[in-house]
Amino acid sequence: MSTPSALTDYCNFIAGEFRPARSGEWLESVDPSTGRVWARVPASDATDIDDAVTAARHAFPDWRATPPLRRAALLRRWADAVLARSGELAAVESRDNGRVLKETQGGDVPGGAMNIQYNASLADKVTGDTIHLGGVPGSPPGGAGGAAGSVNFTVYEPYGVAGIIIPWNAPLAMFFAKVSGALAAGNTVVVKPAEQACCSILAACELFTSLDLPPGLVNVVSGTGPSAGEALVDHPGVTKLDFTGSTATGRRVIQRASANLKNVSLELGGKSPNIVFDEADLDAAVTGVAGGIYTGGAGQSCVAGSRVLIQDTVFDTFTDRLRAHAAAIRLGDPRDPATDMGPIAFAGQFDKVRGYLELGLREGAKVLFGGRTGADALHAGAPPGTATDPALAGGYWVEPTLLTTTDNGLRICQEEIFGPVAVAIPFATEEEAYAIANDTDYGLAAGAWTRSLDRAHRAIAALQAGTVWINTYRRLHWAVPFGGHKQSGNAPSNGVRGLGEWLTLKAAWVELGHGDS
Ligand code: ADP
Repeated sequence: MSTPSALTDYCNFIAGEFRPARSGEWLESVDPSTGRVWARVPASDATDIDDAVTAARHAFPDWRATPPLRRAALLRRWADAVLARSGELAAVESRDNGRVLKETQGGDVPGGAMNIQYNASLADKVTGDTIHLGGVPGSPPGGAGGAAGSVNFTVYEPYGVAGIIIPWNAPLAMFFAKVSGALAAGNTVVVKPAEQACCSILAACELFTSLDLPPGLVNVVSGTGPSAGEALVDHPGVTKLDFTGSTATGRRVIQRASANLKNVSLELGGKSPNIVFDEADLDAAVTGVAGGIYTGGAGQSCVAGSRVLIQDTVFDTFTDRLRAHAAAIRLGDPRDPATDMGPIAFAGQFDKVRGYLELGLREGAKVLFGGRTGADALHAGAPPGTATDPALAGGYWVEPTLLTTTDNGLRICQEEIFGPVAVAIPFATEEEAYAIANDTDYGLAAGAWTRSLDRAHRAIAALQAGTVWINTYRRLHWAVPFGGHKQSGNAPSNGVRGLGEWLTLKAAWVELGHGDS
């Protein structure tokens, strides 16, 4: 798939074939650790989306009629193929969006394969309810409460064609999770990955060609949000939409989709609090806080613990230990297995993070540590004397940074930065901690570090978030439902409950007393 230049071209995957955009236009994909273009992806528009939806609609009747155990078997073969190519896929992802190998190879790809297997195991567990409405003696049949009554049952059915819009921060993991859920439930899919990082998903489509999957079952179309994304949202052949991304874009998507009354699942942003109480195991809390905002995707994660609420009695002790921990985080080439933290995924996001650093200072926040960006940040965590590849000087680096303020109303405390920039906020009492934690429009996740069992349960009850972690942070698992409260989303993914998002309910009424006696 190479062009005459050194760039790699990745094509759309439609109806079982790799195709460029009909327009012949391409978008460039930049390696964020060097700032150089390394690949091209199709700049697709509504015509390509229409091809993909047509292919998916064509594939739907047979896939829906495929026995669930057969669907599960095909999904398991897909999972095996993912595992067999995990090194290669992880390397593409690390190059394309800068996520470190520790995460892509160590988690996303093998975890994605497990996620597919988990969803495969749910394919034949979809059951409905029976509701027996007894008859009313003497009533005529046909009306409510007829003499013989009725037997009612519910059936869960696939929607049809599911449109899945994926962001750039963890494309492969999301692709495996979402697509396997939709397929297990009997839908066919059209995926619109993010234009900034979709090479890994397009590369992963090669697996489908060797698996003998029906053409059109899975289609992937790259392109920008306004062009390919909106075409998918608007397409009348798409009956279910699943969007993961920012709250602002999610709001636009659901408004558009609502015009056609489509069912829409949203997984959106967050400004998650990570609360450190003074009686907590502070060493564990330091590791958990750093994992939540620095090494976890360089803070480019919807569940990033971006507000660190620290009890005032241990504020200085904790932030000193966090500074020492952050200083040892190795920032650098995401494809080096020793690297802990990679770059920001693309130039636009790099500018946004730098903008928030400047804004924070203008708003009066203080820098407790970090703050350097670009090549100046690159040496963070490297042992003294380590030579840095000169090519990395053009990368989008931001070092682990901790700002502090007492005002949770600042924009840096309310808006999603999506980078390795945390804000430390002191609090005095437990009640104050929860009040600050909940003082946000978001409600995706929250963490609390405590040795008190009672306090842990109080925190779980008090924190307004779809996920609450106690003495851990940023753990996700395909078996555990995950979704947002407030403006962080409207539907859970993962777990048995998550599969339900790919199914629509039908109620059947069978009136008795009309058949042969
Ligand atoms: P970011 O996290 O950079 O803010 P978005 O939430 O805007 O990203 O993007 C997440 C996904 O939504 C990407 O695949 C993007 O292309 C897509 N997208 C962006 N704008 C729209 C839109 N108006 N309609 C549909 N999809 C969109």
